[in-house]
Amino acid sequence: MTLREIKSTLSDRLQALEERVQAACRRASRRRDSVTVVAVTKYVTPEVARLLPDLGFLDLGESRPQELWRKAAVLPKQVRWHLIGHLQRNKVEQSLPLVSLIHSVDSDRLLKTLDMEAFKLGTPADVLLEVNLSREPSKHGFPASAVPEIFRELVPFLPHVHVFGLMTMAPLSHNPEHARPVFRELRQLAEQIAKTNQDVGRQGIPELSMGMTLDFEVAIQEGATLIRVGSALFEGLSESPP
Ligand SMILES: *Cc1c(COP(=O)(O)O)cnc(C)c1O
Repeated sequence: MTLREIKSTLSDRLQALEERVQAACRRASRRRDSVTVVAVTKYVTPEVARLLPDLGFLDLGESRPQELWRKAAVLPKQVRWHLIGHLQRNKVEQSLPLVSLIHSVDSDRLLKTLDMEAFKLGTPADVLLEVNLSREPSKHGFPASAVPEIFRELVPFLPHVHVFGLMTMAPLSHNPEHARPVFRELRQLAEQIAKTNQDVGRQGIPELSMGMTLDFEVAIQEGATLIRVGSALFEGLSESPP
């Protein structure tokens, strides 16, 4: 495909995605502006990713820090970058100035490093804690049982980190209903934390990053405020060499 064809396909897919998000919000009696769509660009080259800001779409996500650096270097500065995958501590310093929200904070040590680097940078680090609710040991994230204690005993002592909410990945399945109990559990955990921790999220409503291509509609029903969508936008879109 030429870049021009890709742009036109992407424009159609963004429109179709927007319609599905609006319909899901209506069914859940939620306002459309309570859900942010993050376009996950990890499948495509910087040249293709840049078509999104060209089309007016600015929330982009990457799961690998180095790939985020590579794309951030060539995409417009207005892009709001979301880091959605594992961040090693030795990559914090270089990532922090580029990202608008880190969804995938998964250890005490990473939280402390983020606090230190955010202090050095002079700008707070906005983050979510990743929670491993599918209990797959291969997945990153805090066990749910550890999360209240982190909010109680660690977060208050990290003045340069703003923890806005929680993120999770549902177990891989072609049936979106399999994800529902996981999403519900994340929401309940966030509600429990918000009761004792007024600072979390915006105006007391914690952010919930959950839902991908196959299950974002269920996630919206269960309260997602950020959905991370890749394949629905980018499947099969690659540039043919000139
Ligand atoms: C790749 C990825 C997504 C997007 O997944 P799709 O199923 O392609 O929409 C969302 N979240 C994370 C953490 C990812 O790594």
